[in-house]
This record gives sequence, structure tokens and C-alpha cells, in this order.
Amino acid sequence: MNLNSIPAFQDNYIWVLNDEQGKCIIVDPGEAAPVLKAIAENHWQPAAILLTHHHHDHVGGVKELVQNFPGLVVYGPEETLDKGTNQVVREGDKVNILEYEFSVIATPGHTLGHLCYFNFPYLFCGDTMFSGGCGRLFEGTAEQMYESFQKINSLPAETLICCAHEYTLSNMQFSLSIMAEDETFLGYYRKVKELRAKGQSTLPSSLANERKINIFLRTEDVVLKELIKKETNLQQPQQIFAWLRAKKDSF
Ligand code: ZN
Ligand code: FE
Repeated sequence: MNLNSIPAFQDNYIWVLNDEQGKCIIVDPGEAAPVLKAIAENHWQPAAILLTHHHHDHVGGVKELVQNFPGLVVYGPEETLDKGTNQVVREGDKVNILEYEFSVIATPGHTLGHLCYFNFPYLFCGDTMFSGGCGRLFEGTAEQMYESFQKINSLPAETLICCAHEYTLSNMQFSLSIMAEDETFLGYYRKVKELRAKGQSTLPSSLANERKINIFLRTEDVVLKELIKKETNLQQPQQIFAWLRAKKDSF
């Protein structure tokens, strides 16, 4: 299987997996035009769409794609039923497309129905985890997002984190605003800055990398705990996660 990313809007990525015959699976097509263009250029035959949540920048292209490819199966959470989903899936489901099997993982937080799709090494995590960051809490709570992060963190280290936005640079800036002297953050910030200056993508990331450079996965970090102590005595990982998420909201 071959992984492709199609840039859309300002900073979205629409992920496409294709097999050797050119059959493909499209994740979160927020708009149709760039996907239709890539399909034509690569002679792909779309087999299915996977949707992570109901936001327009993830589902906006579904109806036009289905008009072009009437047989398309659209998998998504219940919250996407009015966005073109014709196969509702939920936590624990296995989705079989072509010869591949995806596990459905519920990751509430950004929205209440948010799902991730996992077929090793690929994790399509929508707006749950970003490289170096975490999705905004539009519908869920920080506690729910924390639990969703723990689920993702339990996957193998080599898992490829295919998130839906190129937010890495600003996430590293945020991490450095909290932990200015962290060598790992500093090093990764420089690397990402260089990549972005050349117009290159920072994705996919790996879970092993996120464990080091994503501050939302470092809620047990001793230095971070000490820093936070100056502002609050909340020291449980969930509380540190919530504190970070609240800081990010006003960053
Ligand atoms: Zn979203
Ligand atoms: Fe989004």
C-alpha cells in the first residue's frame, strides 16, 4: 500500500492509500477538486472514503466524489450521516476495504463522535492528534481528549500518524513557549522550520517521534511538572493535559 497526501484549503491534508492496481481509499476529503485531479493524474479507482468527524474541512468533498464514483462506500461516525456517510462505524468495528482491515478507534474530544482508523502502520487520526499538538476541544472535554491520546499512545511506536492539518510549526512554537529550554523541542522546531521554509510537509509523523516532541504526550515529564507547579498544584497527568490544552487555546 502506498500513502499519498493531497494538500487542501490552507493547511489540510487529504490522505489517500492506493494499492498496486490503483484502487484507493480516501480519508477526510474536505474538498473534491484536488482529489479528482489526483485521481485523474494517477489513474486511481476509488473504493471507499473514511471520515473521522463531521467538520466541513473533512467532509465537504464527499458528495461530489460520490456523484463521480457512485459505488463509493463512505464510512464514518454517526455524526457524519448527513455528510454522505452510508456505512456508520463505531469503536471496535473492523472495516474491510480491498484486502485491508482497519480498526475503528473512538477518540472523542475534538468532536464527540470523532473516530480514528488504524491499519498498521497507518493511523488516520483526523483532528485528534497533530504532530506536536492536539485538536481543539469543540465538543468534548480535556479528560476525553486525554483518554483518546492514551488510546493512540498504546499503538506500536512505528505507527505513522497521519493527521489532517499541517500545524507542526506552530505546535512546536507553543511547546517552546512552555518549555523554552527543552533540547528535543528546540531541535525539532529547527527541523520543522527548515522543512516548511522549503514548502515541505512535516507529515506523516511516527508515534515514536510524537512521544518525544508532542508536549501533550509528555504529561509525566518531570521538568514540565516542575514548571507547572509555579502556576497550579494540579499534578495528575490528566490535569497537566487539561492545563496545556487551556494554555494552547489562548496561545
Ligand atoms: Zn475538525
Ligand atoms: Fe480540521
